[in-house]
Amino acid sequence: MSSKIAAIVGRPNVGKSTLFNRLIEQRKAIVDETAGVTRDRNYGKSQWNGVEFSVIDTGGYVVNSDDVFEAEINKQVHLAIDEADVIMFVVDVESGITDLDDAVANILRRSKKEVVLVVNKVDNNQRILDAQEFYGLGLGEIFCISSMTGSGTGDMLDVLVDKLPKTSDADEEHELPHLSVVGRPNVGKSSFINALTGENRNIVTDVAGTTRDSIHTRYNKFGHDFMIVDTAGLRKKGKVNEDLEFYSVLRSVRTIESSDVCLLILDATRGVEAQDVNIFNLIVRNKKGVVVLVNKWDLIEKDTHSTKKFAEQIQERFAPFTDVPIIFISALTKQRVHKALETAMEVYENRKQRIKTSELNEVLLGAVENYGPPAVKGKFVKIKYCTQLPSPTPTFALFANLPQYIREPYKRYIENQLRDNFNFTGVPIQIFFRQK
Ligand code: GDP
Ligand code: GDP
Repeated sequence: MSSKIAAIVGRPNVGKSTLFNRLIEQRKAIVDETAGVTRDRNYGKSQWNGVEFSVIDTGGYVVNSDDVFEAEINKQVHLAIDEADVIMFVVDVESGITDLDDAVANILRRSKKEVVLVVNKVDNNQRILDAQEFYGLGLGEIFCISSMTGSGTGDMLDVLVDKLPKTSDADEEHELPHLSVVGRPNVGKSSFINALTGENRNIVTDVAGTTRDSIHTRYNKFGHDFMIVDTAGLRKKGKVNEDLEFYSVLRSVRTIESSDVCLLILDATRGVEAQDVNIFNLIVRNKKGVVVLVNKWDLIEKDTHSTKKFAEQIQERFAPFTDVPIIFISALTKQRVHKALETAMEVYENRKQRIKTSELNEVLLGAVENYGPPAVKGKFVKIKYCTQLPSPTPTFALFANLPQYIREPYKRYIENQLRDNFNFTGVPIQIFFRQK
């Protein structure tokens, strides 16, 4: 299970976000967005030639003004080097090579990362001639594009996709549950992993991931055999900008993409913060299993309603996806650490389960009979048949005469029926309506 990540770097105003939107748009048309999850301005999925990959506009995460400091760009580029497989370095043909471009090119050359040098705003043929000066950056071939019109992006993407790591079969075949521990800085991720795995870390093997930035370690603990997904981002704690909260979200991307189930840690003393919600959304958007762990519970002065009140607060912020286990733990005293692992394994099983088609149809067609889709423009929508599609995450197709008339609330109703009748706790569900 490997993730492929391409990052966009470059000075302000060269057209990074325009390019980002173009790369995300072409894919949005193909795939439904998960209900209720807002789109991230700086992170999304794209695909080209059948290869799916994530795109991160690192520029969106740093101060984006004309008088941006070189230090700020440095952070952006180092972050991209840490987190991405390929870097799209965007420059602007209108302004030519600037000092900042030179500085970025220097860092990239030294990093040995795969780089695609993108000369943007090449809107006409004259500008192709102007663009030649960018060979001077010493990063090899240049790709002239116009993010505005999309011209040239195809040739650029051919090369980009080719530079992404190939999915290896051995990795894909790895049957063990892949768990990860994610959350804002200082919520207790490392403490939890230590509490779970013990001081002398019962490491069975150290398997280097498909990319050199991720390490998957195998454990056998409390009777479970599982992998913990760890990334450069987690290990290089404190090194780069952990103080800036948005970096923690970005650093979670690869970890989340490489996991089956994510243990999202919150800090009980801080309540639910915006960044917690962002990371939760990232998990849901990637359709991974999730368990919420409220850590540092030992520090809370509790009464009989404390857990209930906290759980309600979480559900309110994480709505509409609220069928998520919430466990109150202390990594310090090891309270319920075992329970957290047990629950993660249950969520793993929930996510893997395949419902028999006969059983599924009995439940869902019954539900449709009780409450059918509302008629649209006098036309009645009839749902005839449903099936679970083969997919790593529960995905259901419902066949109907007029699937285009099914609206979000009805989809939500079907999802709730699935959750009421089967155990999908902690697991995002996808539902598609198809023509029959
Ligand atoms: P960012 O700061 O690097 O994210 O840059 P933006 O994507 O916000 O773009 C900066 C400006 O350049 C905007 O006014 C865009 O409309 C413009 N722009 C982006 N791509 C192109 C392009 O391909 N051609 C032209 N002529 N303008 C572009
Ligand atoms: P990370 O940045 O998410 O990996 O967080 P750490 O594991 O480094 O923990 C941050 C701080 O919180 C450290 O000082 C820990 O000792 C403390 N901490 C972690 N878990 C607990 C807990 O359950 N209870 C208390 N009281 N402190 C904790």
